[in-house]
Amino acid sequence: MLQASREAVLPTYARAEVMLVRGEGCRVWDDEGRSYLDFVGGIAVTSFGHCHPAVTAAAHAQLDELWHVSNLYWTEPMLRLAALLSERIGGAQAFFCSSGAEASEAAFKVARKVTGRPRIVALEGSFHGRTIGALSVTGQPGKWEGFGPLVPGVSFARPNDVESLEAAISPGGDLAAIVLEPVLGEGGVVPLERDFVQTAAERAREVGALLWVDEVQTGVGRTGTFFAYEQLGIEPDLVTLAKGLGNGLPIGALLARNGAADAIGPGDHGATFGGNPVACAAACVVVESIDDDLLAHVVATGDRLTAGLVALPGVQEVRGRGLMLAAALARDAPAVVDACRERGLLVLTAGAGPSVLRLLPPLVVEDAEIDEALGILEAVLA
Ligand code: PLP
Repeated sequence: MLQASREAVLPTYARAEVMLVRGEGCRVWDDEGRSYLDFVGGIAVTSFGHCHPAVTAAAHAQLDELWHVSNLYWTEPMLRLAALLSERIGGAQAFFCSSGAEASEAAFKVARKVTGRPRIVALEGSFHGRTIGALSVTGQPGKWEGFGPLVPGVSFARPNDVESLEAAISPGGDLAAIVLEPVLGEGGVVPLERDFVQTAAERAREVGALLWVDEVQTGVGRTGTFFAYEQLGIEPDLVTLAKGLGNGLPIGALLARNGAADAIGPGDHGATFGGNPVACAAACVVVESIDDDLLAHVVATGDRLTAGLVALPGVQEVRGRGLMLAAALARDAPAVVDACRERGLLVLTAGAGPSVLRLLPPLVVEDAEIDEALGILEAVLA
């Protein structure tokens, strides 16, 4: 019956032949009772593992109280989450939505309205979402095909290439924002260099543009600091979040500081589900749980995974920060992903060519689980 129902799903994803029915901690189970170590984590989403007791309890409690009201009213979980995020980023104001693409759309609109300028500089290979605005600042032409015309006014620079950045900004008087992912995620897990990012921040300030940092994938502890930009010595005006914020409940956010959203008022933007009380209640537990101990754990387990990957046969390079890692292989990654799944390990690829294997385990992953994953990878790559 369910096999036939596949026809009823629009084929926007190349799904693996597996039906997942249950999750707990770093593991998921399929409908035949097989378990898998989950180093995909819903693509950097289930940072506290599946069905984490405290996150689940907070969502359950909120489900029993209030599911949804319009943003015409205040709700307590939304206010608590805004305050928690604002504490993390020097008094920022939050706009809540339900996904990363929506957060990108909000940032795009805020940047244009606040500066009164049209142009955005983004990076080649970047990824900011699939809606038309977010797609327009996504530096992957393959993803544009068939969907044009895109939003005009976007220039692209090469990552870690200051000259190319200068050329894309120039002359700058019409520039609303520069958007950066601290580590390009879908583009192949490419960390941006400190000098490059600092130049972008300086140039944005000089020309009166906003610095928008897309932390949808890197944020909420993934790279070993709450925001990845903290490692780069910059202070962005706009920060976008989603993925790990709700540990699997759909939530995204735009955080604006330094008066970056001062020109925004009632009616300028909105989202029916933005600030949903259940998603916000879960997200509050997530944000509160990211403390120094957890961040140190992310760094330590990330180092352990990196060292293990480097030593595997056929691994040419290991890139990333914290628990956002990729291994460039001497062979096709999709076949490795399939072989790992057969042996009980879920990993994924990244968009930058056929040989990049990506690993995004939950932030609470234990050493033993890392070693187990490395053992499976070694057997597959041998
Ligand atoms: N920005 C970044 C950096 C992302 O990695 C993604 C998704 O992979 C998005 C935005 C879009 O998020 P969503 O899929 O929730 O729309």
